Amino acid sequence: MKKILIFIILLLILIALSYSIYKIIQKNQTNDPDNTQTSTTSIPSKSSPETPSSNFVFPITQFKERITKKPFSIHVTPQNSPVQPERFTGYHTGTDVEYQDITTDVPVYAIADGEIIYSNFVSGYGGVLILKINISDSVHSILYGHLRPSSLPNIGKTFKKGEQMAVLGTNYSSETDGERRHLHFSILSNDRIDLKGYVQSQSELSEWIDPLTLYK
Ligand SMILES: [Zn+2]
Repeated sequence: MKKILIFIILLLILIALSYSIYKIIQKNQTNDPDNTQTSTTSIPSKSSPETPSSNFVFPITQFKERITKKPFSIHVTPQNSPVQPERFTGYHTGTDVEYQDITTDVPVYAIADGEIIYSNFVSGYGGVLILKINISDSVHSILYGHLRPSSLPNIGKTFKKGEQMAVLGTNYSSETDGERRHLHFSILSNDRIDLKGYVQSQSELSEWIDPLTLYK
């Protein structure tokens, strides 16, 4: 009799256990589709592959990949320059980003929130704009050169980070003052308006910073 009682208790425990396991499995199965849906549809990518994880967005598409001729601080002469023929001698204050192979409009973007403090046609550049922004709480002048003059914004206009400001000028045209299609992009570590693309000494060059340091 005692043995039968133990057997019945064991049997009941077994049935209870089986039922619990069945319920858990059933619950997981009904939740599964929901879980899958949440993970695939409601977590959109917060940034495009073009958007770096720093506080700044790139000034132009394929910024790093297209710095193929004149990086920041390169010292060029008419003899050694990677761009021929060369009319300049000196240390490069900016970074050149090359787009001669692209025939559609190439937009340039505000790398951070800022205000236009210069916008004009300049000999040697074509269209130029300077955006004043803050980097680590100090003002910097961000120069974009060789732009289409008709696309330039007015002085005083403000832009949010990532907003399009203008487009590059056409290859070897009056828009770029005869230059190949590229962006000259430089960062002056104060809010002066300085259009120099080259300087003659390293001490002069120390007023500019390498744009790539913003994207590490
Ligand atoms: Zn340049």
